[in-house]
Amino acid sequence: MNAVPPHLSAGSSPRVTTEKVVWWHEWMPGLFSFRISRPAGYDFVPGQFARLGVANDAGEMIWRAFSVASAPASDYLEFYAVVVEQGVFTPLIHQRRIGAEVRVEKPAQGFLTADRLWRGDEPKDLWMLSTGTGLGPFIAMLEDTEVWRRFDHLVVVHSVRHAAELGYRERLEALTRSPRSGGATLRYVPTLTRDPHTPLTQGRVTTLLQSGALAAAAGAAFDAARSRFMLCGNPAMVEESRALLKARGFTNDRKLTPGHIAVENYW
Ligand SMILES: Cc1cc2nc3c(=O)[nH]c(=O)nc-3n(C[C@H](O)[C@H](O)[C@H](O)COP(=O)(O)OP(=O)(O)OC[C@H]3O[C@@H](n4cnc5c(N)ncnc54)[C@H](O)[C@@H]3O)c2cc1C
Repeated sequence: MNAVPPHLSAGSSPRVTTEKVVWWHEWMPGLFSFRISRPAGYDFVPGQFARLGVANDAGEMIWRAFSVASAPASDYLEFYAVVVEQGVFTPLIHQRRIGAEVRVEKPAQGFLTADRLWRGDEPKDLWMLSTGTGLGPFIAMLEDTEVWRRFDHLVVVHSVRHAAELGYRERLEALTRSPRSGGATLRYVPTLTRDPHTPLTQGRVTTLLQSGALAAAAGAAFDAARSRFMLCGNPAMVEESRALLKARGFTNDRKLTPGHIAVENYW
């Protein structure tokens, strides 16, 4: 589980490398995706995160974790991020943009990978529940044809405050119409918490999960034999959703004990 499969492996090289920001996209002010040159021999499994470092004005290196949002085969690494006003790393990189130097630590880390959830009894539905930039690892997973092959239905739930914060919306909508090869279909369920005047689903993930509205919007029922869940982003959403799922009989996936739920908290 989680070892880099040979087709995603690029070999070995130094532990920390210096890369450059080569591409930048601002979804709305302060919400952005950026790409850096990919370090030689940098391997990752979709869902894993990279440790990135930028130097502050005093020359100190500030390190933070960022989930990789790009395809395992791309020659860049993409990340989806938001400026945290009281934060350190994100205001710095947001100010510097294309050309900024970014350190990358090897290897990639993390256990929010789909391979752990397709162990065992051939589950059918993969639910990817996210808030804000917690969508990033799922964007990488949707670039992996193995994920499309292992499940029948992929469901991406993306909870944000306003519709303008729905990064990657067009790509996700396109994938619902034209799925990647492998056999699965994608349901995309954007949900808004503070933007009532749109036709999109309204409400917090936890409220929608509890009321049954999430299952209805996705057109898929929760079922222990079929369903597996990945939760990523705001720790309150992650923990409350996990508790609701456990109350319905779903269990945490553990290394030695396969279960239904895998999570990543961003803070
Ligand atoms: C495993 C892992 C993967 C991560 N992947 C991503 C990612 O792909 N994209 C991303 O934007 N962040 C991600 N984060 C969070 C990231 O590491 C930084 O904490 C974040 O980008 C803010 O950095 P900062 O130095 O500006 O603020 P920090 O000093 O790190 O954070 C200050 C405060 O901001 C809040 N905060 C932190 N992250 C976020 C966020 N994403 N959205 C809203 N509020 C936040 C928290 O209250 C935190 O205490 C990840 C964290 C972990 C542990």
